Amino acid sequence: MCGIVGIRDAGGVSFSIYHALYALQHRGQESAGISTFDGTRLFKHKGQGLVAEVFDSAILEALEGNVGIGHVRYPTTGANRPENAQPFNFVFRDRIISIAHNGNLVNSRELREEFERRGQIFCSTTDTELIAKVITDEMSTSGCIEDAVHRCMRVLKGSYSVVMMIDGVLYGFRDPLGIKPLCLGRTEKGIIIASESVAVDALGGSFLRDVLPGELICIDDEGMRSLQIARSSQRAHCIFEYIYFARADAVLDGALVYDVRLKIGEKLHEEAPVCADSVCPVPDSGTAYAIGYSAGSGIPFVESLLKNRYMGRTFIMSTQNEREKAVRIKLNPIRKHLEGRSVVLVDDSIVRGTTSRRIIGIMRDAGAREIHVRIGSPPIIAPCYLGVDMPTREELIANGRAEEDVRRRITATTLHHVTIDALVEAIGLGRENLCTGCLTGCYPVEIAGEKSAPPAVDYVDGTYQTKLETFGT
Ligand code: AMP
Repeated sequence: MCGIVGIRDAGGVSFSIYHALYALQHRGQESAGISTFDGTRLFKHKGQGLVAEVFDSAILEALEGNVGIGHVRYPTTGANRPENAQPFNFVFRDRIISIAHNGNLVNSRELREEFERRGQIFCSTTDTELIAKVITDEMSTSGCIEDAVHRCMRVLKGSYSVVMMIDGVLYGFRDPLGIKPLCLGRTEKGIIIASESVAVDALGGSFLRDVLPGELICIDDEGMRSLQIARSSQRAHCIFEYIYFARADAVLDGALVYDVRLKIGEKLHEEAPVCADSVCPVPDSGTAYAIGYSAGSGIPFVESLLKNRYMGRTFIMSTQNEREKAVRIKLNPIRKHLEGRSVVLVDDSIVRGTTSRRIIGIMRDAGAREIHVRIGSPPIIAPCYLGVDMPTREELIANGRAEEDVRRRITATTLHHVTIDALVEAIGLGRENLCTGCLTGCYPVEIAGEKSAPPAVDYVDGTYQTKLETFGT
């Protein structure tokens, strides 16, 4: 989980990157960074904290140039350390390089050991630095960026959406299965590559399309080109992006996330109807689902829990105790809407079960008579190795437990998780094109000790590039 952006714009880029990162803040709150290039020099700034805490106008003014990349970080691989903040900047054979990545590699240890055996050093524990090493390793022999990305797509195992800037040329590429999102947009005078379409919207730009799995996009003085490096008949888009992670107003690989969640809400009603006084979302993650449930059932949508907007995600708390207290501060019940009522409580997912149990407790304290919990994802039974920060199997409440057991533990009156078939139908991309690892325990890439069914990937030789767009400088 991380957000990335790359922009080329004749009018300067630092403020645009800042606004785009702001729109992607939900993808990572631990650190933020921007690198820009003015034709000869690299300007960079990064730090721990939210985008608005890391940057101010003076800092942004100092980030000169018409091309740049940015990153917001939510740690998966690599500890919470300042040196792990991205973009990762370095010079290689007089070429000034900056790179940022969203995803998680599953063979980083092997790759790292291989480089270290050859005497290479690392100054961070991130996958991003490893990707940079694979790129420079290939550049040192062929000198060609396209070859270097080709090599990345062959040796990197896992998920990776990458933005990269080499001497002011902007690149973006996505792993051959398209696990993490990446899209293209046009602004008045430029081009943007970003994790989610909401970053394009934030700049008043127009959405062009998703970067294809296995595709390399190159944006330089002449315009924008595409090189399809790897092809697979199947994709493996992260299903959890639709369930929880992406913003509801994002369009991911052709599907508007809001619509998907609305449909899931309707399906939750079809699968598990109940007689109740109101449908209440867990804000904000359950809202679109609850509207769908209400529309399908005719039961009024009544907000009964109000969220404190100034509170970060409860997952940021490091201990269980802190997490439990945080839920209470984050959500306040509206007693009048709950007293003596039977309520359908709708949320996106249950991970550890802490949030649901606490919320149900709060609602019962406020007088709710019955709480029928409806969840927009099937039970999460397995960890994610491909970029979503999920706890271990042991901490997942649904792992090894029947739904009835989970219901009892979270103290709900009734509980239903949407079925995987209904979820897949709501997304509309076909099950074969989705990574369902956290729901099934079967992954689209090989992972030691886990079940997997990796689709075949073909690599396209040659350097033919499709010209997408031409613009002057
Ligand atoms: P819990 O069951 O207490 O672990 O919390 C689950 C809630 O946290 C869900 O309803 C989501 O809204 C949210 N959530 C789910 N997955 C994540 C994640 N990987 N990081 C942060 N929040 C999450």
